Amino acid sequence: MVASALSRLKLRQAVIITRFAPSPTGELHLGHAHSALFARAAAAQGHGRFLLRIEDIDPTRCRAEFTQAILADLAWLGLEWERPVRVQSEHFDDYRAALDRLDEMGLLYPCFCTRKDIADEVAAAGNAPHGPDGPLYPGHCRRLSMSEREERKAAGQAFALRLDSAKAMERVGPLSWRDRDRGEQKALADLFGDVVLARKDTPASYHLAVTVDDAIQGISLVTRGEDLFAATHVHRLLQAVLDLPVPAYAHHRLLTDAQGRRYAKRDRSLTLRSLREAGKTPEEVRILAGFCN
Ligand code: GLU
Ligand code: ZN
Repeated sequence: MVASALSRLKLRQAVIITRFAPSPTGELHLGHAHSALFARAAAAQGHGRFLLRIEDIDPTRCRAEFTQAILADLAWLGLEWERPVRVQSEHFDDYRAALDRLDEMGLLYPCFCTRKDIADEVAAAGNAPHGPDGPLYPGHCRRLSMSEREERKAAGQAFALRLDSAKAMERVGPLSWRDRDRGEQKALADLFGDVVLARKDTPASYHLAVTVDDAIQGISLVTRGEDLFAATHVHRLLQAVLDLPVPAYAHHRLLTDAQGRRYAKRDRSLTLRSLREAGKTPEEVRILAGFCN
């Protein structure tokens, strides 16, 4: 009795849960199809579960009609996913709660800088350290006094919230994470410096929402493109400070077109919709996307 309950528990723990998390800023192309099929295959290998998440926190770039088109394209491609689909714009309270916890720990600070302010600060700093996205934020607002922060807020100045990455790292110590294919990785938790966790125009950022959602959805294997490999370092830091479970990660290659360029939203010709309209079958498109079944 106890033994069978234990083995059921083990089975449950071993189930792989993956997700595909597109942003509805355009129609899906072959690169997305590869990513979705990769996530499904990773789940299928472990008799696992495949979930979907719509990453629509950016109100300036996301559109509801693209969400509908994404669901239709994925169904046409032959994918099935569990309901309900998690739609990020319906969960700002979850991101707020995470920000509140970070704030209580003293790990956030308001940043009033405009892009231009940051560019000027970087130029003034001489050889400012660089991260995967360019120069790191030089930390001007981290050094503002409490009263300056309050004054600027009271004056109605817009601000983003940044993570004090040095303080966060000090709190949790050295970290690592596991890449399914490349093995144990030492977390370079300050690779992106003091990342923005809530933007001026939307109360969450990609790094925050993705980390919180992977935990809430119980994702055990995060699958995504090579281009997001570096982002995992900062997600690992957020997991540690927020005391969230740590999934494993697998990164897939990025498909390229005949000229060797990565597929992008600008490539109208290779959207799933245009391929379907040109008479391709779902199976043919799965093959074009690098999967033979
Ligand atoms: N929404 C992100 C994108 O479309 C993917 C996020 C992730 O898989 O972590 O690039
Ligand atoms: Zn600033």
